[in-house]
Amino acid sequence: MLLTPTQTRALFEHALENRYAILAVNADSPAAMVDALEAARQCQSPIIIETSLWQLTGRSFGNGDPFLGLRRYLADLAVLAQAERYRHLPIVFHTDHIKGPETLSLLRSAIMGLPTNFGGTAISLRTSSISLDSSELSAEENRSMIAALCHAAREAKVDLTLEMEAGVDDGVTSLEETEALFGQAEQANPGYLALWAPGVGTKHGLGASDGFSPQAVSDHQERATALAGRPIGIALHGSSGLSDTQLQAAVAAGVAKVNWSSESLLIRSEAARDYYHTHTAALAKGHPDFKVTAMDNGVQQAVSEVYIPRVMDRLKALGSAGHAAEDQ
Ligand SMILES: [Zn+2]
Repeated sequence: MLLTPTQTRALFEHALENRYAILAVNADSPAAMVDALEAARQCQSPIIIETSLWQLTGRSFGNGDPFLGLRRYLADLAVLAQAERYRHLPIVFHTDHIKGPETLSLLRSAIMGLPTNFGGTAISLRTSSISLDSSELSAEENRSMIAALCHAAREAKVDLTLEMEAGVDDGVTSLEETEALFGQAEQANPGYLALWAPGVGTKHGLGASDGFSPQAVSDHQERATALAGRPIGIALHGSSGLSDTQLQAAVAAGVAKVNWSSESLLIRSEAARDYYHTHTAALAKGHPDFKVTAMDNGVQQAVSEVYIPRVMDRLKALGSAGHAAEDQ
């Protein structure tokens, strides 16, 4: 089932209290979304499917229009989450790196819901949790963006669960900055923040994360929890370069959500490359297997066979396997 913002906050708190983290897969196609859900089903694990702007505007969803992309992305995930095969899993839809002039209006529509009709039944497609890309924002802009999202939720009388971030690629964020950003945002709009994403020495992309500091995770988790007066988990960005041991240290220190994009893309693209390399003959005109090899499902099937076990490995490394049932 697709979790509401209130259910999502409870899931993040459960993960933090029981020291596991939920994997947030940046799924950039419907096939990637299905593969991530399939891995969660096989591990009986909660999972976060998240999207950044480049996925909403990509050919699989919005084809240039992020609002159309959001509607299609959410509709696809909502239908999957209601399906017999996945409805027992806690599934979170999260907005990840959204930036640019349309950020606020896009996120407002994700918070308030997109009215949609499925076979005569009207349902509101809403996001489970929200974050935005603060990499090009000043501290003041970051705080006022968070305030505007909280205002939108209050006006619409809907619940909202937020992750706030600060310079995740810029080394280790200072605790003073946590007070100035997270602390002030919480004070101005109490109760909406559930996750804090400071810099803890990781970097987005495929480079090594030598500078990763579990101590920074622990310090920030404690400070954010003290500032909010309730348990706040750390959201870890730039996890692709981390080993299983580092991931487990992160979880032990208070990480409740782990974003996963670059390595996921690498696994999928390498599997696709290998598929086309090993099936060149079948892609020739007149080959009896041409059609089954050339159709999208040919490469997607081959990618899923490589990808799903790797997602399952991550879910197990983060300790979330087996936690699907108890979070309902
Ligand atoms: Zn990120």
